[in-house]
Amino acid sequence: MLVDYHMHLERGPFTPEWLDRFLVVAQERGVAEIGISEHIYRFREAQEAYGAWWGEVAVSPDVAPTVATPAPGTAAFAARWWTERGGQSLNEYTELVRGAAARGLPVRLGIEADFFPGAARAIRAVLARAPFDYAIGSVHWIGPWGFDLLGVEGLWDGRDVDEMYRQYFALLGQAARSGLFQIMAHPDLIKVLGHRPSAALDVEALYAAAAAAFAASGVAVEVSTAGLRKPVGELYPAPAFLHACARRGVPLSLASDAHRPEDVGLDFDRAVALARDCGYREVSTFVGGARRPMPLG
Ligand SMILES: [Zn+2]
Ligand SMILES: [Zn+2]
Repeated sequence: MLVDYHMHLERGPFTPEWLDRFLVVAQERGVAEIGISEHIYRFREAQEAYGAWWGEVAVSPDVAPTVATPAPGTAAFAARWWTERGGQSLNEYTELVRGAAARGLPVRLGIEADFFPGAARAIRAVLARAPFDYAIGSVHWIGPWGFDLLGVEGLWDGRDVDEMYRQYFALLGQAARSGLFQIMAHPDLIKVLGHRPSAALDVEALYAAAAAAFAASGVAVEVSTAGLRKPVGELYPAPAFLHACARRGVPLSLASDAHRPEDVGLDFDRAVALARDCGYREVSTFVGGARRPMPLG
């Protein structure tokens, strides 16, 4: 069985017609079940709950947009980026996906939630507001620095790549241990723009620590084909990372991270080949937060 548990409807409306287009491509590619995992920050309820996570220095959402071009990595930049994207209704979203499932369509209700230290209670409160089948935990931000923002000039300027890797993996482990999530997204996303650590950094040790955190927390690890469409041009995670997960018995999830119907299930032959190579024979499905393993492929 193939499933694709990570995709976003955000470029279209919350309508059955738009959702159907994702289901049609899934069917064409032999993906038996999909999960929609809209970004948590799209929703008013989450915007309120998360608060100003980007720093101790409060930046009012009302004030931030007046700063013409805040530099990436600043609280003002994070405040503007985050608050500009909210405003949708969580109820409308959950009713769309649950409604489709109730009509017998093979779709599950998920959500992708950004993890920040200190935000666990707020995230838990948002997750409790809807009957999610699963929640995906992701790390896109190190403090107020969103490290994966394509097209932002000077994004990585002055950054110590090794140190960013260390901080990213520390956050990833914390996210897994938070107990909030069933799946960890794009596990080595820090490589997205092609920045590589120096030989001095023991990346294998970072993989091992993250895999141990995943195993201890019972979360599944995502193999995501999205990285193939990004500057790095690789699957997430690196083979050595997935091997470390497989050795510790971390369950598998499959993901395209599609933001448009055409990308659903894209390049899954490569994802499945990597997973099989690492010894995986099962893929996870989730219903009401409970994992149901199915035969892979
Ligand atoms: Zn993500
Ligand atoms: Zn995503």
